[in-house]
Amino acid sequence: MSELKKIFEKVLDGERIDFQESELLYAEADFHALGQLAHQVRLNKHPEPLVTYVVDRNINYSNVCVCCCKFCAFYREPGDKDGYVLSFEEIGRKIDETVALGGTQILMQGGHHPDLPLTWYEEMLRWIKANHPVHIHAFSPPEVVFWSEKEGITVAEVIHRLRAAGLDSIPGGGAEILVDEVRSRVAPNKCPSDQWLGVMEEAHNQGLRTTATMMFGHLETPAQRLEHLFRVREVQDRTGGFTAFIPWTFQPDHTALSRCRKLTSVEYLRTLAVSRIVLDNVDNIQVSWVTMGPKIAQLALYFGGNDFGSTMIEENVVKAAGVAFRLSCEEIHRLVEGAGFIPRQRTMDYTLMETK
Ligand code: SF4
Repeated sequence: MSELKKIFEKVLDGERIDFQESELLYAEADFHALGQLAHQVRLNKHPEPLVTYVVDRNINYSNVCVCCCKFCAFYREPGDKDGYVLSFEEIGRKIDETVALGGTQILMQGGHHPDLPLTWYEEMLRWIKANHPVHIHAFSPPEVVFWSEKEGITVAEVIHRLRAAGLDSIPGGGAEILVDEVRSRVAPNKCPSDQWLGVMEEAHNQGLRTTATMMFGHLETPAQRLEHLFRVREVQDRTGGFTAFIPWTFQPDHTALSRCRKLTSVEYLRTLAVSRIVLDNVDNIQVSWVTMGPKIAQLALYFGGNDFGSTMIEENVVKAAGVAFRLSCEEIHRLVEGAGFIPRQRTMDYTLMETK
């Protein structure tokens, strides 16, 4: 029996594959057979034909940032005339609009602002919880590390303080590729991969759920993408705290890496499928309509994906790189049904909401 066939059988028997096996699968498996294998793994985990989504809004409280990541078209350096920090009232208005549209959470992220102390973020969380109670899915490991270094306190203490102020969960932003050789080239001022994973493990240990992401298609090799998946799998084995994995493709326009070639849909779908197969301990794999568009997102539901992500009432970061797909709840329903599944709204921790 060929090596590849043995790997297919192993996966179908519910066994875990190792790094070398994943390399062979990623490089050589037939495109459709790989998709079918990932879809079978998805059906074994989620036999019901449901595809979930969340109604939320990205609120980017500030675009001022000292990180200067090469792939980022969103940030402004301190002192730039286009730099901004939203007032609490503006944030409150955005939350009200989100809730009026059936939203259950807000996703908040911002630049690494050099002048905002940790107390500003605590006050923001407390103010939101007091005035506009909603699930707050916010920040990212690099921001947590930035505050810990700036304030001279441990990561554990930063998380503890944010949690006490109202933080409910942490999105997996800023992961890019969790291999330092790549990180040091695309995001030299962001925390290294051990620290990224360390923040997530600490958050899980303190009872916060988080997601994990991977932004791929810039300076990494296919093997480094796989390394990323295995590092996430390792932490998940210890904590079980990741609710979902979200791989998305780098959008090069308007960034310092604009000469990078945009990945094809086939490359995206292969990576999604291998993510579903390697991450046997992560329940949910999210498809990325924001970067791939609705049609490829539909196809991705047959390549291991079981979640359509968020309606993204507002999204600024990918939009800054010239990609601006927008979907309403109705459109998500139409797309999911058109692909042969039943759409269901969920919360951050994947609790299904009552159908109306
Ligand atoms: S990706 Fe985030 S940390 Fe990096 S420059 Fe942009 S806003 Fe700053």
